[in-house]
Amino acid sequence: MSGIYIHIPFCKQACSYCDFYFVTRDRLIPEFVDALVHEISAVPLFDGSPFPSDPVRTLYLGGGTPSRLPLSQLERIFEALHRQFDLSGLTECTVEVNPEDVTTAWLDGLRDLGVTRLSMGIQSFQPELLDFMHRAHSSTQAHYALDTVTGAGFPSFSVDLIYGCPGQSDAQLRDDLEQLLAYSPPHVSAYSLTIEPRTRLGKQTELGRLAPADDETVAGQARMIRESLASRGVERYEISNYAAPGHEAEHNSAYWNHQNYLGLGPAAHSFFWPVGHNQALRWHHAADIHNWSRTVQSEGYQIWVDAAVAWRNGDLPGVNGPTPPDGIEIEQLPQETLAGERMMTGLRTSTGVDPDQLLSRYGHPLSPAQRKRVEEFRHQGWMEPEAPLRLTDRGFELADAIILRLLE
Ligand code: SF4
Repeated sequence: MSGIYIHIPFCKQACSYCDFYFVTRDRLIPEFVDALVHEISAVPLFDGSPFPSDPVRTLYLGGGTPSRLPLSQLERIFEALHRQFDLSGLTECTVEVNPEDVTTAWLDGLRDLGVTRLSMGIQSFQPELLDFMHRAHSSTQAHYALDTVTGAGFPSFSVDLIYGCPGQSDAQLRDDLEQLLAYSPPHVSAYSLTIEPRTRLGKQTELGRLAPADDETVAGQARMIRESLASRGVERYEISNYAAPGHEAEHNSAYWNHQNYLGLGPAAHSFFWPVGHNQALRWHHAADIHNWSRTVQSEGYQIWVDAAVAWRNGDLPGVNGPTPPDGIEIEQLPQETLAGERMMTGLRTSTGVDPDQLLSRYGHPLSPAQRKRVEEFRHQGWMEPEAPLRLTDRGFELADAIILRLLE
C-alpha cells in the first residue's frame, strides 16, 4: 500500500470559498478521535487484505484543519496507527496546519511523533484578501507561523497560496510572493480561486454582488507565480504544485499514479487496485461526522470488512460480494476509466503521460483520434514534440480544454 490519508474535519471558522466538508465544533474532537481510533483498529488484519500487511510509504493528515487537534489527541491517533500498520518504511508524514494554531511546543510535539512535513494554508498576506476569504488568521500570524515553522527543523514544508480573487491586483500578488519567498519555502501549492455554488462567495455571486476575476487576469497571475518561483529554483511539477528539487509531495503523486491508498475519517476516499485485476475500487464515507462515527463503530462495519475479504476470492465488494454498510459509497472503475483518469492526472504533471504505459498498465493505448489530436496540439505548441505526452507552458494554461478534447 502506498499511503494513508486521515481526514480531520475541524476548522476554526468557515472560509468564504470553501466547499470541503468540515465542522466548527471543537467540542466534538474527543469523540471524533475515539471513532477514528476505532476505525483504524477495524482495518482488516486478515490474510489477503491489502492494507495492514504492506508497508506504508506516506501518511497525510489533512482537513479541515488537523492543527485544531491538541497533541494529546494526535498522540492517540499515531499510537493507533503504529499498532495497526507497518510504518517503519515511512518516507513522508505530512500534517496540514493553519497559521493561527502554530506554537513552538505543538510543532516540537509533531516532530516527536515522526512528522516530516508541514503544509500551511497561508493563502495571502494582504489583510483585505484574508478578510475577503474569511480566513481565521491575520498577516501578522502568517509571519509568526512561517518564522516558527522555518525554525522548527522539519525536513520540508509547503505553503498554500490563492490567486485570481475578484479585485486582486497583480501588485498584491507580487507583494505576496515577495513576502513568501523571504522564507524560501521548498514547496508551494498555488490555487486560483474557484467560486463554488454552496459557499458564501457562491451565494454572493448568485445575488450579483460578486463577479469572478476574468480569465486573462487569472492566467497572467498564474504566469507570475510560475516565473517568480522558478527564479528561486522552485519549479512547477504539477499544474498547481511547485517544488525545489527533492521536495515534491510524494503522497499526492501516489494519487496521480493510481497507487493504493486508504482513507480514514469522514469524507476520506480510499482506492485499491489489486495486481492482476482489470478493475479498481474507490470508496468513501458520506461526508458527515456523526454518520461516519456511527458506521465505523457499528456491527454493519463488519460487513465492509467481510467485503474486503471477499475480494481475495474474486468477488468485488459491493458488486458481487457483500454490500458495504449504509454511509459507504463505492465506485467500480474499469481499466478504460482508469486510463482516462491517468491521462487527466498525468497531463497535469511535468512528467506527463507515457503512451506505452497506457497500453501496458491500462490496456488502452491512444486511439487513432487521440493520436491525431496529439499531433494537432504539438503543431500548436501546446504539447512537447516527443514522447512522453507533456504539456508546454502554454499548454498548461489551456490544460482543462486540452484534456477535455483528448478524452472526448
Ligand atoms: S480552513 Fe481549509 S477546510 Fe477549513 S474552511 Fe478554511 S479552507 Fe475549508
